[in-house]
Amino acid sequence: MFGTIKGDIGMNISKVKLDKQDRHSPAWQKLCEYIKIVADEQREEFAPREFLGADLFAQIYTLPETIGTLTRVKRVRLYGSNLKRIPPEIGEMSALENFDPYTSYDLCWFPYEITRCKNLRDSRISTRALYGNYKHRKPFPDLRDNPVRYFSETVRCSCCRRELSYQEVNQAWISLCIGTDVVPLLVNLCSEACERQLPTPPPHYLPYAHKGGPDLKQPPRGIPYTKSRKEEIPAAEEPLLKFIRKNREK
Ligand SMILES: [Zn+2]
Repeated sequence: MFGTIKGDIGMNISKVKLDKQDRHSPAWQKLCEYIKIVADEQREEFAPREFLGADLFAQIYTLPETIGTLTRVKRVRLYGSNLKRIPPEIGEMSALENFDPYTSYDLCWFPYEITRCKNLRDSRISTRALYGNYKHRKPFPDLRDNPVRYFSETVRCSCCRRELSYQEVNQAWISLCIGTDVVPLLVNLCSEACERQLPTPPPHYLPYAHKGGPDLKQPPRGIPYTKSRKEEIPAAEEPLLKFIRKNREK
C-alpha cells in the first residue's frame, strides 16, 4: 500500500523507513574506517561528522553494525544527522554514557537494545520527531503490515538474545526512559515469556508494548512525564499478548 493512513487523532501514520543505505559509497566506507580507528585507539568519543565532513556525513542513514566494537566509547555525537535508524548493536556499547543525536529529525524510534547500555545517563534527543511523544503523540507505524528489517539475515530476541528468523520474530513498540528522555523502542520478541520481562513504561505513556497502527489509542497530548507525577494511566485495552496471538493465528 502506498501513502499514509489516518490515525485516531487525525495525524498521518507513516511507515517505518527502509534501510536504504548505499554500503558501497565513499561515505559509508569512510565511516567504517573511522569506526575501526575509534575501536583500535580505544577512544572515548564517537563523532563521525568531524571525521567525514558535513557532505559525506549527510549521506549516512544508519550506522554500521561494527559500532558494537566501540566498547570504550562514552560519548556519541550525532548532532544534525540524516540518520533514519540506529542498529541494535548499539546495545553492545557498554561504556556509553552520553548519547546526542539532537536535531536528527528522521530518527523517530530507537532499538530496544539501547536499554542494555547501563551507563547511559544523559541524552539529547529531538523528541518532537519521536513516535508517541507526549507533545504530539505522533502515531506509531503498524508493525502488523510493516515489520522492521535490520541489515542482517536473522535477528536476535531483544530480551534473551536468541537468534530468530524474521518469520519467527514478534516485533512491538514500547516507550521507556533512555538517558533523560522517554523514547519509543522497537523490541524483537521470541516468546511470551520474554514479553513478560519487559519493563513498565513511565506514566503518561502507553503502559504496555503494542503493535502501533491506526486503532491504537494513545494518552492525551500535552502531559509530560515527570518522575513525581502519579496520575492515572490508561488501562491496556488490548495487551500485546493478544496481539501476538492474533498475529500468529493469521
Ligand atoms: Zn527471547
